[in-house]
Order: sequence, then C-alpha cells, then structure tokens
Amino acid sequence: MSDQRITVVGAGLAGLAAARALVDAGAAVRVLDRGRVPGGRLASRRIDERPVDLGASYLTAPEGSRFAAIVDDWVARGLARPWTDAFRVADDERMHGSSTGPIRYAAPAGLRSLAVDLAAGLDVRQQAAVARVTADGVELDDDELLASDAVVLAMPDPQARRRLEPGHPLLEVLQRPEDWEPVIAVALRWPERAWPSDLHGVFVNDSPTVGFIADDGDRRGDGAPVLVAHTTPTLARRHLDDPDAVVPEVVGAVRRILGIAVEPVSTYAHRWTFARPAAAHDEPFALDGGVGVAGDGWGGKASAGAAWTSGDALGRALSA
Ligand SMILES: Cc1cc2nc3c(=O)[nH]c(=O)nc-3n(C[C@H](O)[C@H](O)[C@H](O)COP(=O)(O)OP(=O)(O)OC[C@H]3O[C@@H](n4cnc5c(N)ncnc54)[C@H](O)[C@@H]3O)c2cc1C
Repeated sequence: MSDQRITVVGAGLAGLAAARALVDAGAAVRVLDRGRVPGGRLASRRIDERPVDLGASYLTAPEGSRFAAIVDDWVARGLARPWTDAFRVADDERMHGSSTGPIRYAAPAGLRSLAVDLAAGLDVRQQAAVARVTADGVELDDDELLASDAVVLAMPDPQARRRLEPGHPLLEVLQRPEDWEPVIAVALRWPERAWPSDLHGVFVNDSPTVGFIADDGDRRGDGAPVLVAHTTPTLARRHLDDPDAVVPEVVGAVRRILGIAVEPVSTYAHRWTFARPAAAHDEPFALDGGVGVAGDGWGGKASAGAAWTSGDALGRALSA
C-alpha cells in the first residue's frame, strides 16, 4: 500500500478506525474533518467547567469482537471504565422497574477523549470540510483540491450523499435524510444530586418528550449533579431549527419522571439532525471503485461499536 494516498473524510469512530487499518497496512492516509475537534457523535462539551457527554451515552462491546479489544485497552489505560449493566425503566410519569443488559462503558474525561486517543499519531486535519468527491480525490469548501487514490466517507449516509457527484452508483445504495432520526440532547445541572445514587440511566417508554436520561456525574465518576436527557425523534423533528425551545418540556418531563422538586440551575441543548438510522444496512460498508462509505449505519444494528467495526472492515478491505 506504500504508494497509495487515501483520504478519509470524517474523524468519528468509523473514520478513525478506517484510517488506522489503512495506516497499519502501509498506506499514506490523511483524515479530514469539518469539526473543530475529532469524535463526531462521540461528543463531550465543556459545560460549567466539566465535560458532558452530549452525543453517545455509552459504549458496548460484544465479547471477543475486535472492538472489545480496543475497549479493553482503553480500560487498562484508565481512559474508559465499566459503568453499569442496569438502567431504570420509566413511562412518561414515573420509574417502574429496571432492565439489565450488557456492560456499558463510559469515559472519565468524556467519550470524545477516546476518539482523541484513536486519532493520536494519525494525520488528522480539523476544520477541513469536504464539498465533493471528484474523480481525482476531494475538493474542500475553500476550493482546495486534494488528490487521492481512494476516498472513505465515514459519516451518516445522508451527509455522504451530498458529497457525491450526480449519477454516482453509491447514490442508489445510500439512505436518505428521512431514513435517519434526529435527537436533541439536553444537559441539565441541578444545585445538588436529587435522584437515587444507583439510577445510572433511565429508558423512558411511551413519552412524547424524552427517550433516555443519563446520570452524567455517575458515568463520568465525578458525582456532578448533571443529567443528560435525549428527546424523542418526533419532538426533535419539530424543533430542529430552534433546539432551545424543547428545554422547558424536557425539564418538566425529567422532573416528573425522577420526582425532582426543584428546577435545574443551568441547561444546554444540542441538536443532532442525523443521530441514528431508523434501520442500518446489513452489509458492513459500501465500496464502489475508489469510494467507500462506512459508519454506524452499516453492519446490522447502529451503535458506536458498529461505527468502529464498519470503518475497520472498510479500511481492511481497501488494504486488501
Ligand atoms: C444523542 C445520541 C445518543 C447516542 N447514544 C449512543 C449510545 O448510547 N451508544 C452507542 O453505541 N451509540 C450511541 N449513539 C451513536 C454513536 O454516537 C454513533 O454510532 C457513532 O459515534 C457514529 O460514528 P461515525 O464515525 O459513524 O459517525 P460520526 O461520529 O457522525 O462522524 C462523522 C464525522 O464526519 C464529519 N463530517 C461530516 N461531513 C463532513 C464533511 N463534508 N467534511 C468533513 N467532515 C465531515 C463530522 O464532523 C464527524 O466528525 C448516539 C448518538 C447520538 C447522536
């Protein structure tokens, strides 16, 4: 691969996994990302002096998988920690049970720190937005042309579609915006912790407002009185142009479900237009000529681990 110059667009888990696999095979790889920092939907934002996870809530890693080896390494180095295997279950009024599942992993410094770790040693250029994929490589928003032997688009399908020329064969395969669901994540800080210490998180069913509530202080391990609530896709869709508008309804639902007597002291809303696919492709990635697409929309069931697995598989396929 030593004479191959490959451009990976997207420094989320999928793009970083693809880049690592290609570099390991000897290719010259550059990663371009339009964000200020790597991580994509592994997103931790500093709010009130501490990072809060506003994107993915946690990681899961199927035992024996290649991704499990990555997570084990993060745990061994103290970057990730096993968080919990149990969440509460609620309806729109109150909590009424719990549900046990696989171990969920969190990160003391926020999940984005794990993407930063994967990016170490790679040639990653932030604030580099790719406008389109050309026959010779990619063209950036500022008209810069970067020649490449192959291009990996590691992002949600609806975002990848916009970068392809009309008539590109991958447009037949990639999902459209309406196939993906939005979420608005709302970080809520209280003066002190006013919910059970073993809450961890809450799956909320049959609520028009929230689908999941995470105890951010618990998962990060600093005990901060901070929760992050994710809206339902229906509520998010109505407010994508003004995410702050959901805050009063979300505060009301969280207070009601958890029985919190007082208002939060600060709130912050973040919009995810493409939070997750309604259904992922069964195939692990798409590859046509010199253009590949990877991400959590591939590999059967969307998750952060699926994104890494898809990128890793595409990187190894291109290397082969
Ligand atoms: C609210 C929310 C909650 C979630 N909860 C969980 C959870 O609990 N557990 C779980 O496993 N998963 C969860 N997920 C999903 C998880 O975050 C994703 O599966 C995973 O992070 C996707 O990684 P990716 O690399 O496929 O895409 P992304 O992380 O979206 O990365 C795509 C990257 O491409 C870049 N990009 C896009 N367009 C361009 C362009 N034109 N030029 C340059 N760069 C570009 C973006 O800046 C971004 O960095 C959640 C997601 C959200 C939004």
